[in-house]
Amino acid sequence: MPRVVIEQLRKTFPLTKGRSVCAVNDLNLTVEAGEFLVLVGPSGSGKTTTLRLLAGLEDVTAGTVSIDGRVMNQVPAKDRDLAMVFQHHALYPHMTVYENLAFGLTLRHVPKTEIDRRVQEAARWLDLLPLLTRKPAALSGGQRQRVAVGRAVVRQAKVLLFDEPLSNLDAPLRATLRAEISRLHRRLGTTTIYVTHDQVEAMTLGDRIAVMHEGTLQQIATPMELYARPANLFVARFIGSPPMNLFQGTLRRDGAAWHFAADDSAGKFQLPISHTHTERLARHVGQAVVVGLRPEHFLKPTANNLLRENIQLTATVELVERTGTETHLHLALGTNLFVARVAADEPVKVNQIISLTVDMEKALFFEATTGAVIR
Ligand code: ATP
Repeated sequence: MPRVVIEQLRKTFPLTKGRSVCAVNDLNLTVEAGEFLVLVGPSGSGKTTTLRLLAGLEDVTAGTVSIDGRVMNQVPAKDRDLAMVFQHHALYPHMTVYENLAFGLTLRHVPKTEIDRRVQEAARWLDLLPLLTRKPAALSGGQRQRVAVGRAVVRQAKVLLFDEPLSNLDAPLRATLRAEISRLHRRLGTTTIYVTHDQVEAMTLGDRIAVMHEGTLQQIATPMELYARPANLFVARFIGSPPMNLFQGTLRRDGAAWHFAADDSAGKFQLPISHTHTERLARHVGQAVVVGLRPEHFLKPTANNLLRENIQLTATVELVERTGTETHLHLALGTNLFVARVAADEPVKVNQIISLTVDMEKALFFEATTGAVIR
C-alpha cells in the first residue's frame, strides 16, 4: 500500500473584484501506508478541497501531492490510482446494482470473469448480494451508499478517498455503515483518507485524525492524544462531546500557593493548582490563561477522591440531561457555566446545590492570547 505525502499544499480560489479565498493553507501531512486518516473540521475548513487536490479534481496553487514517492501534480485524475466515494452517490439509475458495481471495471477493459469475482466479493462484504439485480430507485439511502462504497472497492485502487459518505443518512444507519467501513478497511488495508465534520465519526474511525480550521492544520494525532492533549483551544472545543469546559481567568501565585482566579463578577471561583503543573506555568504568572476541564473531571466527592490533591466546588444545577448511559449536569458557579458528567442514576434535581470534586491534575492550561496549550 502506498504512502501519501502532502507538502506545503496551498489552494486559493479567485473571487470577484480581484479578491481570493485561501481554502488550503500550506498544509503538510503524511498518511502512512495502510493508514486510515480522518480529516475533520467545521464547514469551510478546507477538507473537501484537500481531497479534491489529492484526487486531481483541482489544480494546486502551490506545493506537492505525492503517492508512493511520485509527485502527482501533473498526473491526470484517472491515472492516479485513487477511488473516491462522495457524499452524493451518483449511481447510474438505469443500471442494476451489479452493473453499477461493474461499470468502472468494464471501462478499464478488465476481463469479465475478474469483474464478476470482484463484484461478488464486494457485494458479499457489503451485504449487497440479495440486491444485485435491483435498480438504485428500489434501494434505501443506506443501501445506495453501500453500492457507492462497493464501486470504489472493486476498483482495487491504491488509495481510497471518502468525502462525508455518511452525512445523508440517519444516525443508526450512520453507525452501522461506519462499522462496515471500519471492517472493510481492516480487511483491505488500503491507505484511506476520510473527510467528515462529525467528531464522533472521526474519533471512532481514524487511526489518526487531522483537525483543520480555516484551511490550516491544527493538530494531527491519534484519537486519544487529541482528546487528552489538544494543541490549542480550537481542538479542545472541537473534540469531545459534551465539549471541554473552558474557564477564562488569571494565574496567581502567593509564595508556594498557586491558584487560578476565574473571571467571575462574584470573585468566588478559584481553583488551586496542583504541583504537577506549576513548573510549566511559571512564565505565565499574572497572565490571562484559559483552564480546560473535561466534564468527567468533575466528580461526586468520595472519601477516595478527596484524599488526593483535588478540590471541592459548590455549584447550582441548571439542567439535567439523562442519556441513559450517563447524566450531564449543566451547572452554574457565579457567572461561569459548565457541564459535569455523572452516573446515569445520579439523584439530582434542577436548582439543587451540589458539591463536586475537581481533578485538577487533569486540567489543561491555554494561553489566552494565542489559544496554544501551555506544555
Ligand atoms: P464542508 O464541510 O462544508 O464541505 P470543507 O471543510 O470541505 O467544508 P471546502 O469545501 O474545502 O471546505 O472549502 C474551503 C473554502 O474554500 C471555503 O471557504 C469555500 O467557500 C471555498 N471554496 C471551495 N471551493 C470553492 C470554489 N470552487 N470557488 C471558490 N471558493 C471555494
